[in-house]
Amino acid sequence: MQLEKPAEVLLLGPGPSPVHKRVLEAMGQHTLGHLDPDFLSIMNSTMELLRYVFETKNQITFPVSGTGSAGMEAALVNMVEPGDKVVIGVNGVFGRRMVDVASRCGAEVVEVEAEWGHPVDADELGKTLAAHTGVKLVGIVHAETSTGVQQPLEPVVELMREHDALLLVDAVTSLGGLPVAVDRRDLDIVYSGNQKCLSAPPGLAPITFGERAMQKFQQRKGKVQSWYFDLSFLTRYWGAERFYHHTAPINMIYGLFQALEMIKEEGLEERFARHCLNSGALVAGLKALGVEPVVEDQYRLPSLITIWIPDKIDDTEVRSRLRREHLIEIGGGLGPFKGKAWRIGLMGNGSQRENVEKLLRALSDILNQLGHRCSIKEALSETMPLYQQHE
Ligand SMILES: *Cc1c(COP(=O)(O)O)cnc(C)c1O
Repeated sequence: MQLEKPAEVLLLGPGPSPVHKRVLEAMGQHTLGHLDPDFLSIMNSTMELLRYVFETKNQITFPVSGTGSAGMEAALVNMVEPGDKVVIGVNGVFGRRMVDVASRCGAEVVEVEAEWGHPVDADELGKTLAAHTGVKLVGIVHAETSTGVQQPLEPVVELMREHDALLLVDAVTSLGGLPVAVDRRDLDIVYSGNQKCLSAPPGLAPITFGERAMQKFQQRKGKVQSWYFDLSFLTRYWGAERFYHHTAPINMIYGLFQALEMIKEEGLEERFARHCLNSGALVAGLKALGVEPVVEDQYRLPSLITIWIPDKIDDTEVRSRLRREHLIEIGGGLGPFKGKAWRIGLMGNGSQRENVEKLLRALSDILNQLGHRCSIKEALSETMPLYQQHE
């Protein structure tokens, strides 16, 4: 029996994002051996393209086998040893997950919390670092997909240098959609995932380690707790030695290579501008429909927009009708936002004018049917001028 053809659902949720046909076609190519010379050159090109997207010269830049969480785990198991002091900013699900992973590594974790929908406060972070001497690493989420908040990184980096700590950044929902700029911002360890703004199917976690991080890694007292994610093996496979560690997911890497090529063809700046334009238009249109964004302008992500569900409107009713009647997926709220907010992803390929307008039409249809009066004409008259300015 053949797999039934999956419905062509437009993915405007918190990930995965829409995958371009060119990427899917690349993944359908002949599987090479993982030490084949032709595959080795694809590995090299993929690392080079990842350096372009991360905006870094870091030698140690490659995709970890596994989803975004594998990137988180790989970063923490390599950098953290039992008893190390680690500070993590928590303002949503993914900061919370970092705390969990770091404590499983045996770290002494101190959390700096912020309210959902707000960034972590750099002053709070500074006070925590001052109160706990000898912090080895600080973890922070650049783009909190559970809330739609963008974390300002510059003030955090400043604190790191002041306190001689490493900065670990979760860039799963930012890489390829908004500037991560690893070298310019001087970030130590950054990981991401395939299926958000890079628009490849889930399965790989691009990661990069800077010099300071690698020095700390060399100074480890004990073995890395995880065999699979041990950087000393992984760097020997991705480096000149091509030492066998585990079989690389060959066709996944074809897909990532192709997705990265498409980012390079478009250009990073153009891609960032596209994400800003479409999220700006979506928010303008939603406001005209009487739907308000959760996060204030300054901290709102261009790749993931959270909106308050209008009064008397049922969360699951709307989302299941979007899926059933319009073939559109959006995300529900998590934690304190469950049943209160929706999460709309305009990530990578998904960030298109056509998709913004399609979603606005579908939402206005459903909301009107459920008794929330709104006009799609008014919404489109808000988005139109934004697009015209950019023509
Ligand atoms: C999606 C996501 C992850 C986890 O990625 P998976 O691919 O689901 O393992 C981690 N951090 C953030 C910010 C994410 O959005």
